Amino acid sequence: MPVPVEALRELQRVGRLLWEAGLVSSHGGNLSLRLPEGGVVITCHGAMLGRLDEDTVVALGQEEGREPSSDTDVHRAIYEAAGAGAVVHAHPRHAIALSLLADNDLEPLDLEGRHYLGKRVPVVDGREHVAEALRDFPIALVRGHGSYARGRDLWEALLYTSVLEESAHVLYLVRTGR
Ligand SMILES: [Zn+2]
Repeated sequence: MPVPVEALRELQRVGRLLWEAGLVSSHGGNLSLRLPEGGVVITCHGAMLGRLDEDTVVALGQEEGREPSSDTDVHRAIYEAAGAGAVVHAHPRHAIALSLLADNDLEPLDLEGRHYLGKRVPVVDGREHVAEALRDFPIALVRGHGSYARGRDLWEALLYTSVLEESAHVLYLVRTGR
C-alpha cells in the first residue's frame, strides 16, 4: 500500500525543517505518524529527512521490501505507552552534549523552554527507556544519542524538539559563560 499523499507531505515538510534547522545530520533521525484511518507510517532505515519521498517512507506491516527505521520498536512502544499521534527522533547537538554531562534530567532556564517543556526533560540511558519517560513528558533524551518527542501531530513533536535544542543551547551558554 502506498503511503497516503497527505501523510507523505507532512513527513516531508517536518523532515525538511528538522534538516534545515540543524536538528539532524544528513541521514540521521526518524519520524513516524499515526494515520487517521489506522496504522503507522515511518521513515525508512537510512532515509534522509531533508529529502523524503515515497521510496523512503513506509506503512508498518506493508513494507513490500522496504526497511523501516531501526528505531521502529521505540516508536511502537511510544504509541502504546503514551498514545501519541506522531513521534520525532532528532539529534539536537547542544541537548546531546548536555545529556552527557547531566545526571537524570536537563532543567530549562529560559521562559520558552519552561513554558513548553516544564521544569525538566528526562535523560535516560538507552532507547528502551524512552517510552516509559514519555508517559509523563512530551520529550526525553537518550544520553549521548538524541531526543524523542511525541505530539498530537508531527508539528507538535517538532515544536518540542526545536524548543529543547534552544533551551539546551541557552543552558550551554549560561554554563560556559560564552
Ligand atoms: Zn538517532
